[in-house]
Amino acid sequence: MTVSQNQLEHDFREVFRTPHPVAVFRAPGRVNLIGEHTDYNQGLVCPIALDLACYAAIAPATHGKLRVYSAELGETHEFEIRALASLSPRHDWTDYVVGVAQLLQRAGVEVTPVDLYIHSEVPRGSGLSSSAALEVASALALLGNRGMDRLELAKLCQQAEAQFVGLPCGIMDQYASLFGREGTAILIDCRSYTHSEVRLPSNLRVIAVNSMVKHELASSAYGQRVAECREAVAELEPFQPGATSLRDIPLTVFERFQDSMSPIPRKRARHIISENARVLDFAAAAQSGDLPEMGRLFIAAHRSLQYDFEISCEEIDFLVDTAIKIKGVHGARMTGGGFGGCTVNLVDPSAVMEFERRITAAYSGRFRKTPLFYDCEPSAGAGRFTP
Ligand code: ADP
Ligand code: MG
Repeated sequence: MTVSQNQLEHDFREVFRTPHPVAVFRAPGRVNLIGEHTDYNQGLVCPIALDLACYAAIAPATHGKLRVYSAELGETHEFEIRALASLSPRHDWTDYVVGVAQLLQRAGVEVTPVDLYIHSEVPRGSGLSSSAALEVASALALLGNRGMDRLELAKLCQQAEAQFVGLPCGIMDQYASLFGREGTAILIDCRSYTHSEVRLPSNLRVIAVNSMVKHELASSAYGQRVAECREAVAELEPFQPGATSLRDIPLTVFERFQDSMSPIPRKRARHIISENARVLDFAAAAQSGDLPEMGRLFIAAHRSLQYDFEISCEEIDFLVDTAIKIKGVHGARMTGGGFGGCTVNLVDPSAVMEFERRITAAYSGRFRKTPLFYDCEPSAGAGRFTP
């Protein structure tokens, strides 16, 4: 955390110049340890909430508008509150904020004129979920003192992204931002919307490495994977009557009937079904401090994303393959939606400096880009910012 409430309030007043009292809310990004693309298949995921967060400073206003400023982009946009219900997406960053405001209104929350100042430490478009951090921080700010059930809020923010922004995402990012806890990863069941804590061994550091690339394919491929998983369910349903998601297909049923499937849905199903099992195995290995097994599961998860789900890319594969050759690295894999963004690495505390040195040298030598490193300390979930 590099920002203070005073600083945020000061910056807010520089932009909006209002006398009204300012309240500040914080929503963290997340790094997903394991369970990739399983959330929209009603499966299991295991993220941690990050120290890196989005901050939303808000004050009431009399101008009749939702005015929103992003410190990162240096842009202000404004929307008439009385037109809020009928606004459609503009296909820029304000969609995340307006989508949330519109759904809050639809849920019966009165959205009043405000000035909203956004400052985020979460890198944008890098797979650490700057989008959910923005949605959740905005939602909490717009709610102010009015309470809303955390799960309802997570679902509302997810819907804003799926319906208004137009990315058919699952619940993981918003759930992790709201339910993350200091000192622990969480295992989320995206069918029952419940979670349990997964304590990580103390002799371990979780390091995210930003490849500094995001290939154009990312958002179109995401929708395509959602559709392919749905096709896989349809092809498997005759063998598991009543199945509505890949979560309903036991591994034994998949293995028995996979030969009758078409090639693409078969590969996608193999990833999702095996990934759910890996999440459970990873949680068990973490609880018993079995670092080699945690590392093995990381690498298996990466290969599954690389070859079966086919959402990795050259830069990310290079980062993973380089990392796992370094002494003291237990495992590495891509994290997030795919086609760029970050890898997540399980590293022995004594090896972190050497890890960063070698990754930087190898990656910049090959791709002429300098990777960034983030120390992923499990941090508190979203709430009012009280430093
Ligand atoms: P990720 O969630 O992995 O960071 P996404 O593509 O889902 O990547 O979301 C990134 C988008 O979220 C950005 O392109 C931008 O539209 C929006 N966003 C995130 N943080 C900010 C910010 N601080 N200011 C403005 N827009 C932001
Ligand atoms: Mg996102």
